[in-house]
Amino acid sequence: MAPHRYPMIPMPEAIDMVLSRSVQLPIETVPFRDAVGKVLASDVNAPRPHPPFPASIMDGYAVRSQDCPGVLRIVGAARAGAPHDVHGATDLNQTVYITTGAPVPSWADAVVPIERIELENNEHINIDAAYKKGANVRAIGSDIKMNETLLQAGDVIGPHELGIAALAGVVTANTHRAPRLAVLSTGDELVDPFSDKKTEIEKGSIYDANRYMLLSCAEECGCVASDLGIVKDDPIALTKSIEEALDGDCDIIVCSGGVSEGDKDFLKRVLLGEFSDTFEGVIHFGRVMMKPGKPLTFAELTTKDSKRVEEIQKMKTTLVFGLPGNPVSAAVTFALCVKPAARRMAGHTDPKPRRIHATLASDITLDNERPEYHRASLEWPSGGSSGSWSYNSSDTNKSTDTNLPTATSTGRQISSRLKSMRGAEVLLELPSGPGFVRKGQVVSGLVIREPGSGGGEMQMVRIRAAVTPPVLTLNGGVLGQTVAKAAGLHVNSKDSSEWKFGKKPNTIAVVTHRFVGALSTEEQSQESDGARVATDEGNDSADVVLDATMKVVVSVNSRALESNITWKVVEVRADHGTSQTLSNTIRAAAAFSSIVVIAPSGPGGVSSQAAVVTAMDYGFPGLADRMRNGHREGFDVNDSLKNNELNQSQTDLKTLADEHAGCGIGAGQVNGCVVCSAPPRNSYNAIKNGIERMLLVPREKWEGLVL
Ligand code: AMP
Ligand code: MG
Repeated sequence: MAPHRYPMIPMPEAIDMVLSRSVQLPIETVPFRDAVGKVLASDVNAPRPHPPFPASIMDGYAVRSQDCPGVLRIVGAARAGAPHDVHGATDLNQTVYITTGAPVPSWADAVVPIERIELENNEHINIDAAYKKGANVRAIGSDIKMNETLLQAGDVIGPHELGIAALAGVVTANTHRAPRLAVLSTGDELVDPFSDKKTEIEKGSIYDANRYMLLSCAEECGCVASDLGIVKDDPIALTKSIEEALDGDCDIIVCSGGVSEGDKDFLKRVLLGEFSDTFEGVIHFGRVMMKPGKPLTFAELTTKDSKRVEEIQKMKTTLVFGLPGNPVSAAVTFALCVKPAARRMAGHTDPKPRRIHATLASDITLDNERPEYHRASLEWPSGGSSGSWSYNSSDTNKSTDTNLPTATSTGRQISSRLKSMRGAEVLLELPSGPGFVRKGQVVSGLVIREPGSGGGEMQMVRIRAAVTPPVLTLNGGVLGQTVAKAAGLHVNSKDSSEWKFGKKPNTIAVVTHRFVGALSTEEQSQESDGARVATDEGNDSADVVLDATMKVVVSVNSRALESNITWKVVEVRADHGTSQTLSNTIRAAAAFSSIVVIAPSGPGGVSSQAAVVTAMDYGFPGLADRMRNGHREGFDVNDSLKNNELNQSQTDLKTLADEHAGCGIGAGQVNGCVVCSAPPRNSYNAIKNGIERMLLVPREKWEGLVL
């Protein structure tokens, strides 16, 4: 038999290969409070000492040590939060009451705890012992010295590290950018369990488990995850999907399924770029000597597109993991290969899973051919994580096998039985057979989840709406689409590659909102005239507003006064909305646009108004008044109109401003984005006279604009 094209390599070798191709991502500065879970890329030094003044450790009396023992007269009080110099001077044999954390007055050098004094009357205390200088006083910088290195590059930021930084007043952290990881499932048989169209499930289909599981795994290990959906077992469709993922600027693509030997398993050929004009790939390995997960495939892609050369040089390449389709194989290979790669990119100095040792709770039969990663839960003997606290001085530093945790198999290990991942805290590293490992034997294992957190209930899959905070810049394209999708939105845009997430580009998102089903084709064709006044009859007002916005934008673009600003409209559809879901949609849309226009579901637009108010960080319901009067400093609409030299007379402008400005548009601000709810009646005029004015405001004014 001819040798297999992809020789089976040992798993440790595969992991080392993956890590050798995983490069730390660029450093960015982020607010410290947003950096929990990230790795510090530079040391954090204390910009000030703590405590910044000599502070009392006790509630008591501030004294001169030379006055003790003795009877002292109380002349005042120093409480935490009071300025240092309130009690700048006292005479000998005087004292002030002091609380824990208060600045010790400059004349005092010790604090006598309240329980050690005798109050003679309300004016004197009697101290019957001597006190040394500095007694019960924390000197300046005794907890944190000025310029001391508080945290080091490579430290993982957790809650306590955040606390240390906050105490020292350090508010930004230099960290490596989080890896952007895109997930897709392959397989003709797969149906999205969360989709409405579940009818196909009858016809030999199964639900797609991997994608949701892997998206969640990716988020759990600190990635910004995006969902590329289910792709059919078709080399062209797969290629297109990979191309879109590459366009989306991600660092890692994780596919599952289609990597083994079947006649529909195209992924390896797809990754080599056989069906693509735009990328080429190298497969570093295509099979691994392990169970479960033998067909695990690892590739690196580069694009042939010269436009992206610069980007590629910056990003190097995109790593692709072709995980086997069986859910357990996908989960195990993610834990062993993808997670370490993501951790290395995020700056972790030791990205591999932690190895521990455990005693087997029962015999396990070895696989005759391949080493196995056997899923097990862990339990510590009494005195371990769940036992009672104990201390025996004769037993110090004595670590014996009896202190090791016990590993209990999660049951049948066939790679389709995802229940074997339930409660799995460790992957036991079992050699290939023949034979058994016996109960009581000690084996090594790789920790895949914090012991103690994996047992009990199956974890609910939680896909967070991946709304990108403004500091992050994601290029648009597929990734943009999938971020929006993850937020539960349908986004239609002809030109989604233009989006710059978080940068608040020149994008207007029109949120169309339909309570009842979509319009019939006939109804839609009647909607083609955007200037038409909406009828009272139903949900068509959404389309009227969308059309009106598009028309206004086309007209603004055609006479754009600054050539570098061209506005775009995208439709964001919120089906079956309530005020609450609509307000979530608004927030999501605000993550990638400068203006969000909400098209109401009916002629009243009441729910939309309510949603604007719910979603708004702040704002006001009457944009019209503001705009009409042009009161806001630096945002004088009339002036802007004049300066922009519109082709209309001054008188016309004035009339326009007075009569139609806003026409009842309600507006507010969400996450730095202007949100308007457009009235369904006369929406064209409202948008023209309200939003158009904003669009024509010069960019400098826009950027500083806070409504
Ligand atoms: P494959 O690796 O594509 O040959 O798939 C191996 C097995 O895993 C088949 O039984 C598939 O139906 C199943 N499978 C593949 N992808 C998924 C998925 N996303 N969710 C659940 N099962 C899957
Ligand atoms: Mg398949």
